Amino acid sequence: MSEFDRLRPTLPTGLWIDGAQTDPIDGGRFPVVNPATGEVLTEVSDASGKDALRALDSACRVQQEWAATPPRQRSIILRTAWELVLDRAADLAMLMTLEMGKALPESKSEVVYGAEFLRWFSEEAVRIQGRYTTSPTGAGRILVTKVPVGPCLAITPWNFPLAMGTRKIAPALAAGCTMIVKPAEDTPLTMLLLAQIFADAGLPAGVLSVLPAANAPAVTEPLLADPRLRKVTFTGSTRVGKLLIAQSAQQVLRTSMELGGNAPFVVFDDADVDAAVDGAMAAKMRNGGEACTAANRLLVANPVREEFSAKLTARIAALTVGAGDEQGTDVGPMVNEVQRKNVAALVDGAVAAGARVRTGGEAVEGPGFFYRPTVLDQVPADARITSQEIFGPVAAITGFDTEDEAVAAANDTEYGLAAYIYTQNLDRALRVADALETGMVGVNRGVLSDVAAPFGGVKQSGLGSEGGTEGIEEYLDTKYIGFTP
Ligand code: ADP
Repeated sequence: MSEFDRLRPTLPTGLWIDGAQTDPIDGGRFPVVNPATGEVLTEVSDASGKDALRALDSACRVQQEWAATPPRQRSIILRTAWELVLDRAADLAMLMTLEMGKALPESKSEVVYGAEFLRWFSEEAVRIQGRYTTSPTGAGRILVTKVPVGPCLAITPWNFPLAMGTRKIAPALAAGCTMIVKPAEDTPLTMLLLAQIFADAGLPAGVLSVLPAANAPAVTEPLLADPRLRKVTFTGSTRVGKLLIAQSAQQVLRTSMELGGNAPFVVFDDADVDAAVDGAMAAKMRNGGEACTAANRLLVANPVREEFSAKLTARIAALTVGAGDEQGTDVGPMVNEVQRKNVAALVDGAVAAGARVRTGGEAVEGPGFFYRPTVLDQVPADARITSQEIFGPVAAITGFDTEDEAVAAANDTEYGLAAYIYTQNLDRALRVADALETGMVGVNRGVLSDVAAPFGGVKQSGLGSEGGTEGIEEYLDTKYIGFTP
C-alpha cells in the first residue's frame, strides 16, 4: 500500500464549508499531482464563485458570535488545534511531501513550525490590549479598544502548505475574525486536513472555510467585491499581490501582503567563511530554494570569494536529489513543471551572460520535476537571475570589493523582504543592517523565520507583519471612544 493510500481514508477532499465537507455547487473536481512522479494522487473539489459566497454567508452568520466568544475560549481552541496538529505530525508531513515534493525532514520541521503559530496566537488571544487616557486639555477622556476586523479571505501559496496557512488563520481566529482560505491549487490537501483538525479541536462551524479551486480568481473576485468581506491576507507573488491590492480598493479592505523576495546574502571579507557556508546552505537550500526568504544573490567579498564558492560547491554537489519520501533525500522535486522551467531559464540566461557553472546547471532526466542543485559563480550583475526570484536550488554568486558597493548592490532591487550578512565586525553588522532596505535582516544566520518575530517585507515585498506580537494587529481594527467625564 502506498503512503498516500494509507492516508486516503482520513483525508477530506471536498470543500470545507460550515464545519464539514461539502460538494461544490457546480460539481467540479481537479487533480493533485505528486511532483516526484508526475502522477495524480487524488482529485479534490473545485470551488466556484457560488461556493465562495456560501462560505462567506456562513462566515458572516457566525462572525458576531465568534467575536463575542471569550478570548480564553478562542485560545483553548487554538491550543487544542496545536496539540492535534502535533498528534498528526507524521501524516501532515507525509502529505506535504507527497503533494508539494519537499524532503520529509523538511516537512516534519514545517509541521512543528506551522503548529507553533497555533500555540503562539493561543497565547496572544488573551493579551489584546487597549488604553485609557486623558486628552491634553484635561477635558476629555480617550478610550482605545481593539475590535476584530471581521470576515477575512486568506490566499496561500504552495511552498509551505501548512505554515503559510496557520500564520494567517491563527491570528485571525485569536482576534475574533472568521476566515475563508483559498489554498494553492498545487497543495490543497494539507489545508483541508487542517480544517478537519480545527473542527476536531472544537472550532464552531462557519468560522473557518477552505475552498480549493483550480481557477483562483473565480473564487477570490466575488469575495473581494462583496461588501461583507473586510480583509484579504495573501502570501504569493508580487504580480498577484498587486492585482489583489487593486481589487481590494473596491471595498477599501484591510490587506496583508507577503510577496516576492530577492534576498541578498552578503559575505564580508571578515566573515567566518565556514559559518557563512553553513548559513548559505540553510538560506539557499532550505525547502529546495522554494522560499521567498531564500538567498537569491550571494554577494561575496572578492578576497574570500574563491574559498566560499569552493566550499559551498562541495556541499551542494554532495546533496542527494530524490523523491521527498525516500530515505536520505536532501532536495526533492520542484513543485511543478512550470517552476522547473523558470529555474532552468534563469540558469541558462545567467550562463549565456557569462556565469560559470561550478556544479549542476541542468534538470534531472526522468519522471518528476527535478532540478540539480546548482552553484553559479561570477554571475554578472545584470543577468536576469539577479533581479528575478529563482525559487529553486540554485546559488548565484557575485563578487564585490567595498562595503558601499555591497550595500548598493543588495538594495538594487524593487524587493525588500529578507537580507543576510556575515561579518565578525559588530560595527559593520549594525551599520549594514541599518542600511539594508528590507523588512528582515539575518546577522550571521541563514534562517529568519521565528514565530515570535514579525515576518514581513518593505518595498514590493509587501505590507504588514506575520507572527510576533505584531501578527494579531493585522486582524484588529482600532476603535476610539471619546467622552467627557
Ligand atoms: P506562485 O507563482 O508562487 O504560484 P502565485 O502568486 O501565483 O504564486 O500564487 C499564490 C496564491 O495565489 C495561490 O493560492 C494561487 O492560486 C493564488 N492566485 C494566483 N493568481 C491569482 C489571482 N489572479 N487572484 C487571486 N489569487 C490568485
